[in-house]
Amino acid sequence: MPPSAAKKSPRVPARSGRPAPELIFGDLWTFDPAPETADPKLKPRYDLFIDGRFVAPKSGRYFDSINPANEQKLAEIALAGREDVDAAYAAAQRAFDTTWSRMPGRERAKYLFRIARLLQDRAREFAVAETLDGGKPIKESRDFDVPMTAAHFFYHAGWADKLEYVAPGRRVAPLGVVGQVIPWNFPLLMLAWKLAPALALGNTVVLKPAETTSITCLKFAEILQEAGLPPGVVNFVSGAGDTGAAVVTHPTPAKIAFTGSTEVGKLILRALAGTEKKLTLELGGKAANIVFDDAPLDQAVEGIVNGIFFNQGHVCCAGSRLLVHEPVADAVLAKLKQRIRVLRVGDPMDKNTDIGAINSQAQLRKIEELVASGEKEGAEMFQPACRLPAKGYYFRPTLFSGVTMSHRIAREEIFGPVLSILTFRTVEEAVEKANNTAFGLSAGVWTDKGSRILKLSTELKAGVVWANTYNKFDPTSPFGGYKESGFGREGGRQGLLEYARLGRAD
Ligand code: NAD
Repeated sequence: MPPSAAKKSPRVPARSGRPAPELIFGDLWTFDPAPETADPKLKPRYDLFIDGRFVAPKSGRYFDSINPANEQKLAEIALAGREDVDAAYAAAQRAFDTTWSRMPGRERAKYLFRIARLLQDRAREFAVAETLDGGKPIKESRDFDVPMTAAHFFYHAGWADKLEYVAPGRRVAPLGVVGQVIPWNFPLLMLAWKLAPALALGNTVVLKPAETTSITCLKFAEILQEAGLPPGVVNFVSGAGDTGAAVVTHPTPAKIAFTGSTEVGKLILRALAGTEKKLTLELGGKAANIVFDDAPLDQAVEGIVNGIFFNQGHVCCAGSRLLVHEPVADAVLAKLKQRIRVLRVGDPMDKNTDIGAINSQAQLRKIEELVASGEKEGAEMFQPACRLPAKGYYFRPTLFSGVTMSHRIAREEIFGPVLSILTFRTVEEAVEKANNTAFGLSAGVWTDKGSRILKLSTELKAGVVWANTYNKFDPTSPFGGYKESGFGREGGRQGLLEYARLGRAD
């Protein structure tokens, strides 16, 4: 927008008694609101989805789903108890035995294609619902979450009639019924990562969405009904940790797939030890984005910003540690400060918003606590002076420079828009610092040298290493971690294998 068309905003007041951060150029201009207006078609109450129907929980209990952007109630969500989880598993087992596993792959493929197409038809409605429920900017749900969700179903539809190529020379069969538990940061996309490969192989599913973001999962059940998916093939049980524990410890499933925190992942690992259940865990991360002095710095700064501020930093593979080569450290920091000054923080439903709402008050408190620890431990903090809405859960994009590996902000997953900046002098030091973490999900390398990229991609202990880019996803690429970031892969042929029983080819 040309400056003549923009309005001048008043000076930014401090929020909650904290000193006002430095006032800078980016905040001098306000823009007219550009709200997305599509109707998300929300129901006041969402029931469980079991055996192809929406059913009330046996206990009759519901909990509220809150819009984190304004703290208003969006809908009531059914709270599933053990009996509901039993009913969901019974339906999934019936569907596995009688229809889904017996159906030829080419027929299963038609259902997956139909699901993807129906989601595309309702893309705007789902994008708005995802943003209202989770707090992420509408441009992300519209341009990333919903199209990628559809892409996963399309991709796996393509596999369903070609399963003999998943493991050439081996016979491929489904595992049976699988139990799946997902987090709140990418509710629809995580659902697609879990459902699409499981269904393509012929498994049936009981899935639990996260308690703060159940709406799009339960709306997705409408699409499954519309697609005519046989009853019981997919069942959704909403609830919190107790419901999740009932899903993962149930005797029926042949496999549990979990995405969430390392803390809960460890509980599940302990609970399943000694059982025959297959397990995949997609857990937390503390990725290093490594910038060398020969990198194209402006491009790197865009990648760093995308890597940590995308989706408010609610990304398991967020580039939350920046390792920058000493000769360019000052230049990169200056460019980063300039860039984050013009990020627009605020109403996630506005099409111009870059950083939306933090998903919940609990998550906001966690971010605040870790940021306070960074200040206390002596790292230097920078935040732009952007205005935050009076209601809702928001956090300014934050840079910490002068960070050392002893700082908590260098070691613990913050899961918010907070970047910890460390420096290095040699390639060896960069690798050592990058690997000096309990996690191992992802990393980024920015350099002009192909040989250096190849060297680092083998030496970095991370499931994904991006080179001269960051946060790029594709259904054909396997994704997963090392160490406390979990095990197993999602996406690609490797992701399909996690849902397959391999036998000898006849
Ligand atoms: P969380 O572990 O608190 O919750 C995840 C899910 O587990 C929720 O559905 C929750 O209700 C359920 N749950 C809670 N206690 C449980 C229990 N005892 N048994 C079974 N289920 C239980 O995590 P979160 O806060 O929702 O999500 C953020 C975390 O997820 C971050 O650590 C992030 O890095 C991780 N994550 C990882 C990936 C990946 O692919 N590696 C992707 C997205 C998110």
